Amino acid sequence: MIIVTRSGVTQEEVDHIRERVESFGLRTHVSQGEHRTVIGCVGDEERLQHVSLLSIPGVEAVHAVMKPYKLASREFAAEPTRIPLGGVDIGGKEVMVIAGPCSVEGKDMLLRTARAVRAEGARALRGGAFKPRTSPYSFRGLGEQGLEMLAQVRTETGLPIVTEVMDTRQVDLVASYADMLQIGARNMQNYNLLMEVGRLRRPILLKRGMSATVEDLLLAAEYVMSQGNPNVVLCERGIRTFGTATRNTFDLAAIPVLKQETHLPVLADPSHAGGRRDLVAPLAYAAIAAGADGLLVEVHPEPESATSDGDQSLDFDQFASLMKTLRPFVAAAGRTLAS
Ligand code: PEP
Ligand code: MN
Repeated sequence: MIIVTRSGVTQEEVDHIRERVESFGLRTHVSQGEHRTVIGCVGDEERLQHVSLLSIPGVEAVHAVMKPYKLASREFAAEPTRIPLGGVDIGGKEVMVIAGPCSVEGKDMLLRTARAVRAEGARALRGGAFKPRTSPYSFRGLGEQGLEMLAQVRTETGLPIVTEVMDTRQVDLVASYADMLQIGARNMQNYNLLMEVGRLRRPILLKRGMSATVEDLLLAAEYVMSQGNPNVVLCERGIRTFGTATRNTFDLAAIPVLKQETHLPVLADPSHAGGRRDLVAPLAYAAIAAGADGLLVEVHPEPESATSDGDQSLDFDQFASLMKTLRPFVAAAGRTLAS
């Protein structure tokens, strides 16, 4: 349920509304916008059945939220959520580009990649130290050594680092290095992991599971938020369908649907969606045109020798060209791109 206050409501009135609701055992979340304040109430709403909320001073309206996700729903927030990372407010006017190799393979390649993508306008470096691989015989990442390299490269370039956490037992370790923690597609419904990263305040990059609906994705975000971490960034990365021409099927429509359903920022990953280098740019243009708040792009100094996802990784020149050709789409979407 959400309570909308009248404009000009005082802090004392807001506090009093919250106390009243909380006295019935529900939790409240306040979202302060420029024009209105929204008080989201989560818990057993039956308990408020006989309470005349409309008569509490400062209350203008009370609405039921019919969606199964509450904290993540559009109604629960007065404004779109902005999550700061690398000098960009993800979800604001600027389009955020996060780039880097699929896997951290060594310090030198990571540093070279970081410098190359930063020079073209990427504002965060992404690289996997713990890699979810379909085959147990594939390269599964450098682990803590990879995290160390990411931290060193952050020091040398100033780029914040984004890296995946795969297991509840690694959350504290990964959080001690990462500026943003990625939950990969395969773990989108690992509820224990979602709860564990919900204890943090660090931003979480939540990738859509390959067989997850938009509602499943929003409920996964709800798991994180219900534990107290409101800093969730969603990512459309393609889903499994009967199509075989691309690695996944990029669900372009999910982007505007998510933007309608939630106040959380939405990124797109054109690299995993298409699985092919030549599709990265067209899918990136489409994502920005559809309203994505940013992109996740795989870049490697020598894609042909990459230990993972070489086929979909751009080399430095291709990334530079993408960033140039993206500009008109960013402008048409009424956004700006960091230079
Ligand atoms: C990745 O980002 O490298 C990755 C493994 O992505 P996903 O979880 O979307 O497959
Ligand atoms: Mn990858």
